[in-house]
Amino acid sequence: MRTAKRIENLPPYLFVEISRKIAEKRAQGEDVISLGIGDPDIPTPSHVIERLCQAAQDPQNHRYPESEGLPEFRNNIAQWYKGRFSVTLDPDREVLPLIGAKDGIGHIALCFIDPGDIALVPDPGYPVYSIGTMFAGGSSYYMPLIEDNDFLPDLDSIPADIARKAKVLWINYPNNPTAAVAELEYFERVVAFANKYDIAVCHDGPYTEVAFDGYRPLSFLEVAGAKDIGVEIHSLSKSYNMTGWRVGMAVGNAGIIDALRRVKSNLDSGIPQAIQYAAMEALTGSQDCVKEHNEIYQRRRDRLLQILNQIGLKAKPPRASLYIWARVPDGYNSIEFATTLLDEAGVVVTPGVSYGKHGEGYIRLSLTIPDERLEEAMVRLMAWHKRKST
Ligand SMILES: *Cc1c(COP(=O)(O)O)cnc(C)c1O
Repeated sequence: MRTAKRIENLPPYLFVEISRKIAEKRAQGEDVISLGIGDPDIPTPSHVIERLCQAAQDPQNHRYPESEGLPEFRNNIAQWYKGRFSVTLDPDREVLPLIGAKDGIGHIALCFIDPGDIALVPDPGYPVYSIGTMFAGGSSYYMPLIEDNDFLPDLDSIPADIARKAKVLWINYPNNPTAAVAELEYFERVVAFANKYDIAVCHDGPYTEVAFDGYRPLSFLEVAGAKDIGVEIHSLSKSYNMTGWRVGMAVGNAGIIDALRRVKSNLDSGIPQAIQYAAMEALTGSQDCVKEHNEIYQRRRDRLLQILNQIGLKAKPPRASLYIWARVPDGYNSIEFATTLLDEAGVVVTPGVSYGKHGEGYIRLSLTIPDERLEEAMVRLMAWHKRKST
């Protein structure tokens, strides 16, 4: 049996060693606390689950869904964008429900990338941008996200021959893993760059609703001209604690939406309808839950930043996302430091380098862990630091 190159070309899993250690410690009954996973610990709001259960009882929802989703769901998505961002969308041409954002991200590559084509991809970044590109036979040109640049790609430093060849530009704000945000002025530069080089822009924005201190992240589509050249991928996963239900949406340029619909209609059969009803309930029902969740994350953020500060780890308070991106202490790389925290404190953090080589020198800590577990993790980190410094 000979598998395809795309399987061999999958990047090696960088923290095999760390994963092995976690499994080993847990098997020995050791209590390991993970701040490594970006998956909300808070349950899906009960009104959403009630709607899901009700819709699951209806035999009409037991049959194949349509690839393009229920018209009512597309309408609700368009209305939500209008209410939240003042962005107008045609529900039939500019909205496509997804089986989670990951579905759209992976499959957009098939809409744009032919063998030999280039995608512009942030480093560090969510791995699916580059893996989708590789699966389609293309290659990624990595745009470094560095602190001096507020973790925004420096578009001017992309060589003109690369920019001319590139077909897609990926951006993601609020950002995973750096927790950086982008303002209107940056998105305007992205639109100008994309127009200059005839590049499609895909903005991955699953964290626009997870924000703190009253900050309201933008939609990329709020910028004039964005819809002429790009789409935004959104998701209910992080906004409504719905990672397990797999539902999101692509919105924006009708040509890109049409291409994605055609790819997907040949690969999947849409989102189970009961889940579409649950998603409609989330988008149209009370938004108090979003506010409540953000208050919880904000409290955790502040507690964790306080402790990180006390143990000498430098991190900026994130204005949005579920993460803290902290510098590792001098004398460690990110894998060494994550391994040390696991070995010596029983706490798991994600090494920055696992999101790309420019993630080196950082760790990512996730806020999606119950308060009491987070407190316990912080007690351990403090005790570890004390042991270290005496
Ligand atoms: C969580 C996440 C996604 C995936 O979201 P789903 O809708 O659950 O597939 C996509 N992009 C980024 C940057 C994420 O952090």
